[in-house]
Amino acid sequence: MSESQEVRMIRETARRFVRSQLVPLEADIDAADEVEPAVLARLRRQAAELGLYGFNLPEEIGGPGLDTDAKLAILEEITYTSVPLSEVIGHLPLSMKFFNEEQRRRVMPGILSGETVITYALTEPDAGSDLSAVRTRAQRAEGGWVLNGSKHFISHAETADHILVLALTDPDASLKARLTTFLVRRDNPGIAGMTRYRKMGWRGYHLNGFTLENCFVPDADVVGGVGDGFLSMIESINHDRIFSASRSLGLSRRGQEMACQYARERRAFGATLGDHQAIQFMLADNDVDIEAARLLIRRAAELVYAGDPLGRIAASRAKLFASEMGCRVSDRVLQVYGGMGYMCELPVERFYRDARAFRIGEGTSEMQRIQIARQALAEVQV
Ligand SMILES: Cc1cc2nc3c(=O)[nH]c(=O)nc-3n(C[C@H](O)[C@H](O)[C@H](O)COP(=O)(O)OP(=O)(O)OC[C@H]3O[C@@H](n4cnc5c(N)ncnc54)[C@H](O)[C@@H]3O)c2cc1C
Repeated sequence: MSESQEVRMIRETARRFVRSQLVPLEADIDAADEVEPAVLARLRRQAAELGLYGFNLPEEIGGPGLDTDAKLAILEEITYTSVPLSEVIGHLPLSMKFFNEEQRRRVMPGILSGETVITYALTEPDAGSDLSAVRTRAQRAEGGWVLNGSKHFISHAETADHILVLALTDPDASLKARLTTFLVRRDNPGIAGMTRYRKMGWRGYHLNGFTLENCFVPDADVVGGVGDGFLSMIESINHDRIFSASRSLGLSRRGQEMACQYARERRAFGATLGDHQAIQFMLADNDVDIEAARLLIRRAAELVYAGDPLGRIAASRAKLFASEMGCRVSDRVLQVYGGMGYMCELPVERFYRDARAFRIGEGTSEMQRIQIARQALAEVQV
């Protein structure tokens, strides 16, 4: 499909920024499992100046309101780089649509300019896939709410300025009405015990745990209405699944590009690797896997961005397929490289490590399968 001139320009801008400013930093960040917050802040500012930061947001909350083709073009370009670095282009939570006017005025300018960072905290030690098990409790107090509980595996909680915390406000209500989202400042004295997990991949992108200890949140920082927590989370989830699927795709495309290059150059038994059929088959399987994921992501994006209810299952399909595809492809890429693929000199072993997390975050593969099967079963007449 040919791109409009406008989309081509947006893609070019994103590509130049990613390849000139971000890719050169990847290896050091991965090796150190660290990135200076000041470096990220500078890169976010640059992305904002280029009009890329917050590219996924609609105009109603101050985003650029890009169409599907433009958003997909940016997604394809930013996912070329590693997970911590692709964050600097700001795929921001759509649940911010639930901010009221005053919250939008107070919080959005900092978020949209990349000066302040927001993250969301749903997961708890005893509540991951099963959000009905959320136990972080918000209890009414004068002028606001007092939160107690604990959250874990929360992206950049240690450096975020704002955390969207999902908490239980009415344990007796249905799942759709029992939870509320609170906009909590990280420097709130009620946020304590910040820990950082060591993990397999996504190095330089930190996952944290923390507790909420009598954490007072004023009424002004309730997001949406009391009981709207589930709804505000759902507002974001399909978009986030498309982002997650795109990240698997980006990493796979880059791996395949490298594997094809290597297969053309490296020689064994008097021929290039690419002359051997076993290698060709791996490259062919990668090619088909990648194209299938790309098309599923496009289909999901067309539906989700248009607000079509069919987008929910389309996003689950794309997320399920792309995340599992990313593991297959990065495994084959590593195999094409042989011993060199296992060495840290190249990003190939990183693709393999990083791909694994996509089958867990934003809803595990099993959760996607459950949703997809439920829908398939509901569609037949018996
Ligand atoms: C890299 C990464 C980033 C993350 N970022 C965030 C973040 O920013 N904010 C946040 O809130 N959370 C975040 N998470 C947490 C993530 O959302 C959870 O890890 C995920 O939802 C799974 O929950 P869990 O780890 O508790 O696993 P569990 O829910 O305990 O599941 C364990 C296993 O059992 C399976 N399982 C569970 N129930 C069923 C069932 N009914 N049928 C079949 N199988 C089942 C699961 O699929 C999984 O394989 C992140 C996680 C990762 C890995």
